[in-house]
Amino acid sequence: MKIDKFIHKKPYLIAGPCSAESEQQLLETAHLIKEITDVFRAGIWKPRTKPNSFEGVGEKGLQWLQKVKKETGLKVLTEIATPQHVEKCLKAEIDMLWIGARTTVNPFYVQEIAEALKGVDIPVFVKNPIHPELGLWLGALERLNKAGIKQLAAIHRGFFSYEDSAFRNDPKWEMPIKLRELLPQIPIICDPSHIAGDREMIAEISQTAMDLNLNGLMIETHQNPKNAWSDAKQQITPKKLHQIMDDLVLRKTKTDDDFLKIKLKEFREKIDILDRKIVNILSDRKKIVEEIAFFKRQNKITIFQIERWFEILKFRKKDAVDFGMNEKMIAEFFELVHKYSILTQTKIMRNANGEKLENKRNG
Ligand code: PEP
Ligand code: MN
Repeated sequence: MKIDKFIHKKPYLIAGPCSAESEQQLLETAHLIKEITDVFRAGIWKPRTKPNSFEGVGEKGLQWLQKVKKETGLKVLTEIATPQHVEKCLKAEIDMLWIGARTTVNPFYVQEIAEALKGVDIPVFVKNPIHPELGLWLGALERLNKAGIKQLAAIHRGFFSYEDSAFRNDPKWEMPIKLRELLPQIPIICDPSHIAGDREMIAEISQTAMDLNLNGLMIETHQNPKNAWSDAKQQITPKKLHQIMDDLVLRKTKTDDDFLKIKLKEFREKIDILDRKIVNILSDRKKIVEEIAFFKRQNKITIFQIERWFEILKFRKKDAVDFGMNEKMIAEFFELVHKYSILTQTKIMRNANGEKLENKRNG
């Protein structure tokens, strides 16, 4: 993928309200954050989950954004979901565009947008799809790049989850990390507002994003958040935005200090040794799993017994508490271990069936 770098600082900050509501609301908010913000955001076409919610002010919001641009000198950014939106934004000289989570999920929409953008040199931000499907996120970036868009960035806004969680959208930090691994040249902006769904959590999520070395933040900011027409719970005041940005700790990714380097190396060596031990223990565990499989095979016992699995989960969760570990993490770890244990046993059973068939055929 050929990418032109257009983000030159960390953290690159995009801020502004979830939705444009009036010209005055946009101008007031923009003036209060213009010193710290690189880009001003506001949605004018709002993809709402349910009908009868506020669906954005539409086209007239484009003129308000033009005014923000003129009065504050900020770059302006809005969400597009159709080729018509693209056309209108280009005409109104909107500086940058973003594709929302509900659009990234659909390759047809993304392709149409990509085609509408052919031959245009404008930065495009692609939000992750609603569900944790990395392929769709990568696919959308590739489609745009193929259409000639070189100023590309990703926005990590968290993922829908059925599980109970403190977040509106589960951050699943492993997803942006995987994206970074596969497309290292693409900058990643974290959107703590849509991850949190709650203004009290914005600071902490922003800090985590910086600690994971993401490139920037997109934070919904409104001059009167409690009365916002959309996402009222997660928007913050301009004053709070200043405070969060002031408090953000930017840690270095590398160090030139030899003493620190040696210390870091020591820690990493300890971790490497422990990780090797874990793999060794898992290998011992696998040997016992194989013995059990042969035993079950001989005695015609089924591989999977639900009571035993519940028992494992219960005891491991208790172990987690005893050792001061996160119960959910330990449960997830053993789900994975158990999944492979079942696979190992299935293979052994299948081989037994295979042998039986073979004997039948031969004799
Ligand atoms: C938004 O940024 O206001 C928005 C609708 O975001 P998402 O597509 O992440 O839900
Ligand atoms: Mn929003």
